[in-house]
Amino acid sequence: MSEHNLCQEFLSQVSDYLDNLVDPITCEELERHLVDCTNCRIFVDTLKKTVYLYQQREADIELPGGVRERLFKVLSLDDLVR
Ligand SMILES: [Zn+2]
Repeated sequence: MSEHNLCQEFLSQVSDYLDNLVDPITCEELERHLVDCTNCRIFVDTLKKTVYLYQQREADIELPGGVRERLFKVLSLDDLVR
């Protein structure tokens, strides 16, 4: 159960984490969670690749709002967020 809560906490900050908006301590905590949690690691990996591919295709265009939220649904991670 506590593991599930950590995932929720992680996912609530993953967007800021990928944008490097979290402070170093939080960043460290998030990365420590990534080491332990395969689900979140796969999620971040997929998210990074998707964002990267998107940016290659649409150079110089920023991700419109809501894209990451939609990705959560596309990747069927509703279980983790719930
Ligand atoms: Zn997790």
